[in-house]
Amino acid sequence: MKKSDTEQEQPGLEENKVPDSQSKRELDRELQELAENERQEEIYYEERRRERHERNLKRKKRQIRNRNLALIITALAVLGGVGYFYREQTGLKDGMETLVAKVRDLVPDKNSGKESKAAEELAKADQSTENPESTEPPESTEKPDINTEEAADSSDSTDIQPESGEGTADDSDETTGNTDDNSEDIAQDESGNMSDEEKTEDNSSDSVNQPEQEAEQEAAQAAAIDLNGVMPQAAAAGAGIIRRQIRHEKKVLTTAKEKAAQYDYDGAISLLQKDNAYVRNVHFQNAAEKFQKKKDKCVAWSPEQVTHIFYHSLIVDTSKAFDGDYKTDGYNQVMTTMDEFNKITQIMYDEGYVMVNLYDLADVDENGKMQAKQVYLPKGKTPFVLSQDDVCYYHSQDGDGIATKLVIDEEGKVRNEYVQDDGSTVVGDYDVVPLIDRFVEEHPDFAYHGHKGIVALTGYNGILGYRTDISYQTRPDDLNDDKKAWLDAHLDFDLDTERAEAKKVADVMKAEGWTFASHTWGHKNMSTVSMERLETDTQNFKENIDPLIGGTDIIIFAFGADINNGGEYTGNEKFEYLKSQGYDYYCNVDSNKYFVQMTDEYFRMGRRNVDGYRMYYNPDMLADLFDVSQVFDPSRPTPVPPMNGG
Ligand SMILES: [Zn+2]
Repeated sequence: MKKSDTEQEQPGLEENKVPDSQSKRELDRELQELAENERQEEIYYEERRRERHERNLKRKKRQIRNRNLALIITALAVLGGVGYFYREQTGLKDGMETLVAKVRDLVPDKNSGKESKAAEELAKADQSTENPESTEPPESTEKPDINTEEAADSSDSTDIQPESGEGTADDSDETTGNTDDNSEDIAQDESGNMSDEEKTEDNSSDSVNQPEQEAEQEAAQAAAIDLNGVMPQAAAAGAGIIRRQIRHEKKVLTTAKEKAAQYDYDGAISLLQKDNAYVRNVHFQNAAEKFQKKKDKCVAWSPEQVTHIFYHSLIVDTSKAFDGDYKTDGYNQVMTTMDEFNKITQIMYDEGYVMVNLYDLADVDENGKMQAKQVYLPKGKTPFVLSQDDVCYYHSQDGDGIATKLVIDEEGKVRNEYVQDDGSTVVGDYDVVPLIDRFVEEHPDFAYHGHKGIVALTGYNGILGYRTDISYQTRPDDLNDDKKAWLDAHLDFDLDTERAEAKKVADVMKAEGWTFASHTWGHKNMSTVSMERLETDTQNFKENIDPLIGGTDIIIFAFGADINNGGEYTGNEKFEYLKSQGYDYYCNVDSNKYFVQMTDEYFRMGRRNVDGYRMYYNPDMLADLFDVSQVFDPSRPTPVPPMNGG
């Protein structure tokens, strides 16, 4: 009522005081406009508050969703880890590999900063239930004071603050407009004004964008960091599993490539195909395809097309070997100097020669029958067999400039001991075995499937430089003077120790691709030896040497002296005995380029001596292997003495 009274009064007042009433109307209008402005502002602020509230709601939803996702990934990772370690026991091997792959899929991609497929799907599902705020216009018309106002509203700070330090208000508005959709993904949007709690929760998206992560570990690391805020240990365990799997796959691929480099294409392909990763790893599939193509292009070699060369221990110091004593002529005839050997090896490698062993040429099948095999090599490569006789480092060679022992160095590699002029012992590569090992380290393709030479051993002085024969311990009355002298100089001799050390070297040699053969225990001439002596000798070898080398089915005849003159062994008494003792491979010396004889019962092969005698008198017989004039050691006394009656 009072109000209406006043209203009625007002016109009268206006009529009476025109100027007053006019100014009052203006004042009213101004007040009205002001009120209207205020109302508009109120509406605007209300609108903004509502929007911010919705953004906050949406943000919290997303945080919850991310947390749930992280928990799911963590749970998968932990389950995957447990399952992966016990996959053999649970029989779930394939399943676990798949699970590991799925976990990897869930992990955000480093470069795009995008969430995984699964996360994207979750995000889509979320969006469909929300207002599509991403279409809201940028708040470019807002005055700076609005930002200030909103900034003051602490509950809104994360949505509003990104523009701080971002340049113009327009820029920041744009950023603000996009913040809702990108804040978790774009690291820069998460400004220093976030609360500590929010920072922790959003660590994931920041870290995913770190560019310095190693490519091969990116997924694993991203996973680890993504989950840091939730269950760091579990996340790290999950990432560890993925890292291990990546390492494993890399190693398998490397090993396959190494096999293929040594022409073991089947081995390389099978290694890749039997790995669980094969079905999904395109590198595995491509490599297998490439190896198959290489094998298809290979040339097959039959045993009859393969030559076999041999050496004795190499002469390191020619001034000592050729010092004019009673052994000089023998060394000059049947030995090769280290310098000659290294040159020959390099030339043969350059010419395309590749070492194969006897088992590459023929093998006993499941019925006990010897069967020929073929060697597959790329065009331009030629297989050959390498052997070395008498790798025992006899007492008689002491002081003659020849290595004294094979040893394993601290790296686990086979080396020689060599006694220098001043009497000090050095460890290095002074004979065929370590020299070939080093050469193959540099040139893996010199060894077919990693196979190296055949090392022929007698036993009477022990093997490989170790005094492993029982006679060193029993000291029989007829003990050789060399052995007596050695025992007098080695009062700490212990047979078990010598044998253990010899076995250690033999084990490493076998692992490195070497094969062992019997050269008879007592360096017997098998063409003239009595049956009784042959049997005793064979038993000596089996008792003293077989346990150290794991046994052998190869005989490399001493003096090259075969048990017959070239006809088949069948029916030969010595052969029947040796066969009954497990010997299937027999090698003589015939100096022919090729000689192979095979029946169901045995594989027999001729060998060629690459030594001073052959190089001096018959360089043409070696011309297919190397040019003697490029190799012959000028420190050899010439003429090399002729053999007495051959
Ligand atoms: Zn010999």
